[in-house]
Amino acid sequence: MRRHLSDIGEFALIESIAKSVKTGPSVIKGIGDDCAVLEYKKNKHLLFTTDMIIEGVHFDCKKSSPLSIGRKALAVNISDIAACGGIPRWAVVSAGIPKHITSSYAHDMYKGITSLAQRFGIDLVGGDTNCSKKLVLSIALLGEVLKDELVLRQGACQGDSLVITGPLYEKPDHLGFTPKLKESRFIVKELMPTAMIDISDGLLSDLEHILKKSRKGAFVYESLIPVGGKKTSVKKIINTGEQFELLFTMPKSMLRSIPKSFYVIGEISGDRPSITFVSRLGERKKISPGGYTHF
Ligand code: ADP
Ligand code: MG
Repeated sequence: MRRHLSDIGEFALIESIAKSVKTGPSVIKGIGDDCAVLEYKKNKHLLFTTDMIIEGVHFDCKKSSPLSIGRKALAVNISDIAACGGIPRWAVVSAGIPKHITSSYAHDMYKGITSLAQRFGIDLVGGDTNCSKKLVLSIALLGEVLKDELVLRQGACQGDSLVITGPLYEKPDHLGFTPKLKESRFIVKELMPTAMIDISDGLLSDLEHILKKSRKGAFVYESLIPVGGKKTSVKKIINTGEQFELLFTMPKSMLRSIPKSFYVIGEISGDRPSITFVSRLGERKKISPGGYTHF
């Protein structure tokens, strides 16, 4: 029987691709983290990431300005570099542009990319342009990370605190968000993080990535989850994607150094990658992520 991608899902597809790929000794971390980590300099690694945004999937041309679309295409990549503790440096942009798009629209889209690039010290160094049915922007971004500041999805330790850099929203600002690079700098310099990810699929789904890679379990406390905007259900926002806050684990002994804008939402406990949700009434329940997946 032929299996469709919707039967196995995005994550299983990526896992099977990862299993079929062999990499050389210059690859420190290949498929499976927010960035690939590559051999580079004596004290630094190179980070390499790519993300694509597609009309109708990640944005709606009727509702979003070209400036905000271009901006988002780069912001999601910067977020992945931040999740690994690095600094973004060089980008190439591939654009699939429908025939009906005007040149001023395309220019505005690039203005969105270049203004954010300038703000984050990124050089735009190339790309590719094609005609396509839907508007597609794919950016590949290189970054640098000091070897002792690299943070991966693996590495969470028993007893670590589980922290997020800001509140979660029912309708996050998925176009205009600012990648959490400043927060990432602080985390790697001051908090001794053991694992980190950016919340792109949803809090529970991205937590599950950390737990699977770290081979650990976690407790998440409903009462500690910060809800932004108007009151909404915690159960909903923990499965809402495109929040782009950083989720990380760190030793409890360093908690006195965390800023007021960060939130401890749980702790690492046990060796099975499962999530125990503790309700406001203290009831414990194992929960599975229901975040966004393609297919
Ligand atoms: P993120 O949400 O952080 O951008 P993804 O869920 O897109 O991460 O990807 C998870 C991992 O799988 C990353 O290491 C990414 O590079 C890799 N990956 C995703 N799609 C592919 C693909 N088609 N081929 C090879 N690697 C892929
Ligand atoms: Mg990511």
